[in-house]
Amino acid sequence: MRRPLVIGNWKMHGSLALVRELLDGLKGVVDGLNCEVAVCPVSVHLHSAAQQLGEGSGLALGAQNVSTADSGAFTGEVSAAMIAELGVKFVLVGHSERRELFAESDQQVAEKTAAVLAQGLTPVVCVGESLAQRQAGETQAVVLRQLNAVAEHFSAAQLAQCVIAYEPVWAIGTGETATPAQAQEVHATLRARLAEVSEKAAQTMRILYGGSVKAANANELFAQHDIDGGLVGGRLLTPKNLAQSVSTRVGSHSRERSKN
Ligand code: PEP
Repeated sequence: MRRPLVIGNWKMHGSLALVRELLDGLKGVVDGLNCEVAVCPVSVHLHSAAQQLGEGSGLALGAQNVSTADSGAFTGEVSAAMIAELGVKFVLVGHSERRELFAESDQQVAEKTAAVLAQGLTPVVCVGESLAQRQAGETQAVVLRQLNAVAEHFSAAQLAQCVIAYEPVWAIGTGETATPAQAQEVHATLRARLAEVSEKAAQTMRILYGGSVKAANANELFAQHDIDGGLVGGRLLTPKNLAQSVSTRVGSHSRERSKN
């Protein structure tokens, strides 16, 4: 049984005060939901966010990026060990903004995944095709190439520690969303590939959908067989939107799952 998971990626938004306000708003929403909820503020806000949430909070924290290196002369980088010290659980790797704007390669994504796993944290490995790639009929090939870059490097046990996020690049921050059928098709492809490595890992691993998810489309997307929750971005940044969307989508998703 895969526990639904919703992760909020706050990107390079906010301030210490706004993060505090958002966490306060969310704390009241997540308790009692049959779902894991995590938020990823910018790395310089993680320490105060962890202190605010304290031990045993129903809300987990994630980092948006990590260095491939353990330590050294890498100005501006943050290592997985440093992130782990803060009590963070998840780390996004290979978000399309990292791949596109910072030229992150599949190889670097695999190295970052290894760095995160080595610290006992959960990598959230993001994959997804561009609009041109979808229009050229290359969606499956692109996401499988991105997944393989990770899947081929790790044991079944290590893979089982990962979360995968399918985020079509054309849907991120655009208001365009993959239809539930389009998303399910890709999720099923990803799970089938994971099953070639390990059937058990494939059945355990959560595959999230990301790309303009909002309360209005979340329920239908999350009711799909291979969609285990979402990675959501700036659209849900205000406390009211965030609280309502998390509450609406996760509540109904949990009900769907418990019926099965
Ligand atoms: C994202 O940044 O990962 C994302 C899915 O953003 P949005 O929800 O705004 O499309």
